[in-house]
Amino acid sequence: MSLQPHLLQTHLLVDGKFTPAASGESFVTANPADFSKLADVAKAGVADVDRAVAAARRAFDAGSWSGMQPFARGKFLRAIADGIRKNAAWIAEIETRNGGKTIANSLNEVESAANVFEYYAGAMDKFFGDTIPMGSNVLDFTLREPLGVVAAITPWNFPFLAAAWKVAPALAAGCTVILKPASYTPLTALMLGEIALEAGVPAGVLNILPGPGAALGNQIATHRGIDKISFTGETTTGAKLLKLGADDIKRITLELGGKSPNIVFADADIAKAASQAVKAGFGNAGQSCSARTRVFVERAAAVEFTAQFAAAARAAKVGDPMDPATEIGPLVSQSQWVSVDGYVKLAKTEGCAIVTGGGRPVGLVNGAYYAPTILSGAKNSMRVAQEEIFGPVVVVIPFDTEAEAVQLANDSPYGLNASVWTRNLGRGMRVARALRTGMVSVNSHGSASRYGYFAPFGGYKKSGLGRELGMHALSLYTEVKNVFVDLEE
Ligand code: NDP
Repeated sequence: MSLQPHLLQTHLLVDGKFTPAASGESFVTANPADFSKLADVAKAGVADVDRAVAAARRAFDAGSWSGMQPFARGKFLRAIADGIRKNAAWIAEIETRNGGKTIANSLNEVESAANVFEYYAGAMDKFFGDTIPMGSNVLDFTLREPLGVVAAITPWNFPFLAAAWKVAPALAAGCTVILKPASYTPLTALMLGEIALEAGVPAGVLNILPGPGAALGNQIATHRGIDKISFTGETTTGAKLLKLGADDIKRITLELGGKSPNIVFADADIAKAASQAVKAGFGNAGQSCSARTRVFVERAAAVEFTAQFAAAARAAKVGDPMDPATEIGPLVSQSQWVSVDGYVKLAKTEGCAIVTGGGRPVGLVNGAYYAPTILSGAKNSMRVAQEEIFGPVVVVIPFDTEAEAVQLANDSPYGLNASVWTRNLGRGMRVARALRTGMVSVNSHGSASRYGYFAPFGGYKKSGLGRELGMHALSLYTEVKNVFVDLEE
């Protein structure tokens, strides 16, 4: 399939219309599987942020969207879900060509995005305020009111899905949105915009601005017309936005980095834990905030687990992301490849051994491919065990006691996700409670996101602030108003 002409030169979505950037400038987006050019993308600048905010503000303040019956708003979200499903094959292909993720993953994520819209389509009319008992002379109740204009800033590793996680609850709550996709992967966000327009979403309710985050971020974070930022990306970028928005007490949700532990006790189903560790560590070529990149194995099972894990990693099919059988595609860019390789070289100089991988996979001479890599001999204090590499690199570290496993797992600036493998239910529950992470999966690497939409997703510590998905996210796109009514004559 070749790109449709309007995707070869894309425009910004502002106030219900696709338009060039005010500067007339564009940037090139490419395919990391072979570095070929995909499209020229209109490049938003500060002036475009201003006109998108003006449009979103007008649409919000007019009240026809924010004041609409939640049930009626839900119909628009359902129409978006239908539009996503109708165009799923096409969106998935663009997602794969633009970001390098496997076509199997892209298809799953596009379906998951449709589910997210469907979930929130039916959620807002079931999101009630409270009545608070204060005696017979008082009626006290709370209202959930839409927060206002939301800036949603998304990363390149889950471009379409991350957009859905933010846009769907924001629209459901009655907010209006300015979506800024990552510069590596702007195309599917624009497709979401087309689908929203086809679904009849009114002008100004959803605006989309591809453009350089470093240049636009300041304007977004300090703009008086924006009420909330919902950001997914690196911890350092999130911290900048938090500081910039502080003077205006801007509302903010941050989904940030991770260095998630995978704890395997000797009594676990070792074969299952080892085969699942491949998806958990190397899925999306390791470019996942939830990637379980620190595997802690009880010493009695360490040799057996590592052998099985390495065999499963070697068996994973790395290659053309458009091949439905491929399990691991290229990294998003050559510069990401260089960064990942730098960490592996550093690990070697610090005394780690490479169990498998450690460079370009045999036979893949072009494209940003990196072999799934397992390192042994690492200490949890080393940079490869503390910093987010965002590539297919996992360290395996033995432990002796349950207390030591918990201590090592918690010894990280991050606290996003974790897995625990054991047949001892009590121990599984004890460890799940002791871990300082926003999510824990027991005998699985699934997480809140596996089923797409029901449960809260987010992190402790430097992994974030607030939660996405489920009713938790909806509450973060609303303000609570308390109304006190004196019933006395
Ligand atoms: P970045 O923080 O570099 O970029 C994320 C987004 O922020 C992009 O749209 C980027 O734009 C934009 N951006 C960059 N600089 C600024 C700025 N100064 N102000 C405002 N926006 C800015 O992260 P990556 O794209 O590299 O994404 C990978 C990161 O995302 C990883 O650290 C990963 O852990 C995290 N992540 C977290 C998830 C979670 O739920 N906790 C989920 C998925 C990813 P541009 O592309 O133009 O630079």
